[in-house]
Amino acid sequence: MDCLSPSSLVETVVLMKGAQIGGTECGNNWIGYIIHQAPGPMLAVQPTVEMAKRNSKQRIDSLIEESDVLRELVSDPRSRDSGNTMLAKEFPGGLLVMTGANSAVGLRSMAARYLFCDEVDAYPGDVDGEGDPVNLALARTRTFARRKIFKISTPKITGRSRIESAFADSDQRHYWVPCPYCDQHQTLKFAQVRWPKGKPEVAVYVYDYCQSEIENHQKHWMLPRGEWRREAPGSGKPAGFHLSSLYSPVGWFSWADAAEMFVEAEKNPALLQVFINTVLGETWALRGDAPEWQRLYERREDYNIGTVPNGGLFLTAGVDIQKDRIEVEVVAWGRGKESWSIDYQVLDRADCRGPGLAEAYDSARNSLPYRPNVVRPK
Ligand SMILES: [Zn+2]
Repeated sequence: MDCLSPSSLVETVVLMKGAQIGGTECGNNWIGYIIHQAPGPMLAVQPTVEMAKRNSKQRIDSLIEESDVLRELVSDPRSRDSGNTMLAKEFPGGLLVMTGANSAVGLRSMAARYLFCDEVDAYPGDVDGEGDPVNLALARTRTFARRKIFKISTPKITGRSRIESAFADSDQRHYWVPCPYCDQHQTLKFAQVRWPKGKPEVAVYVYDYCQSEIENHQKHWMLPRGEWRREAPGSGKPAGFHLSSLYSPVGWFSWADAAEMFVEAEKNPALLQVFINTVLGETWALRGDAPEWQRLYERREDYNIGTVPNGGLFLTAGVDIQKDRIEVEVVAWGRGKESWSIDYQVLDRADCRGPGLAEAYDSARNSLPYRPNVVRPK
């Protein structure tokens, strides 16, 4: 929140986080601060328009209603011409527009000095054929020399996570907290959460240095005494913060809660991703995207190219189109996604001799839904 203040030189604040540490609340505090102290046009983006509506009703409305100064600045929606709707709040010197990352129209709706992107890893990859929703929203901030951007998310999949790549571009700050016994600082790591077998509900935190056992309630003493330390130089403009749920304040989500979730996740791999994403605040590496070569190699069979082995139920042809040639692979498919490569052909344009053949080739190439050699936006 210090970095979000206009007196800070930081332009982009990135928060990669676990659940239950107050991330969205930071953004809502910022909204209140903008309305009260540094008014200007502000765009707040949730993953969908529906979520933007819900957030507005459940959190922004109560934020305004329950704060005397904000209530005075944002006019009552019941009065006529208040400029105040569910997704737009007018206030002296500024306007807050809330929208969803699934609406290109919403993201293009206004030039914004302040941009709040909540849960960016839940945004669609492409919005209405206009590309990445975060880039679309960012484009609306370019005219402001002193813009501020706040991106928050619980991360999802390794390599596809927006918050992870934004954090990687930042100065990568982690929160170091002191031990109540020896005063040495360290970051909280799940490997140090320990419990007797079968009793995760009594989990404690064992400090690296002195091996002291720390109880969850002692976070009350530790958290305010911690400090953010940068792990990368960064350019100074993006500041990145990582917080796992192990830092969740006392009374919210305890180390025992984390241990219990882990014990459940060990029995059910589907829960393990949830644990990694929402408790550790880290990305989940998909397995199976690229099988280990040995595993694949051991499953090979002998068969003749050009014949469909027993078990092949249907054939597909995959086509890769280049400027000078077309490459085709015919694959037979069986039960359980078993597959056999049946044929592979490279058709050269230069080989298309005879009247009209080269033209027929070009027209076939151009009539395909996917045109080769066209640079497609990311
Ligand atoms: Zn210690």
